[in-house]
Amino acid sequence: MTADLDCPYCGETVALPLDPDQPATTLIEDCPVCCRPIQVCINIDASGAPAISAAYREDE
Ligand SMILES: [Zn+2]
Repeated sequence: MTADLDCPYCGETVALPLDPDQPATTLIEDCPVCCRPIQVCINIDASGAPAISAAYREDE
């Protein structure tokens, strides 16, 4: 199970692996294109549809 995420730095689409056992989580994923850390908030609703939001890390 993956979700598409747009990197906030370079704009590339990144395939993000999702863990259905963690329906609400925040993690840091390094962009495979520009290698910068993306803060990702994931919320998977009751129907299994993921809502993904990406943000810059403020401490970078
Ligand atoms: Zn990137």
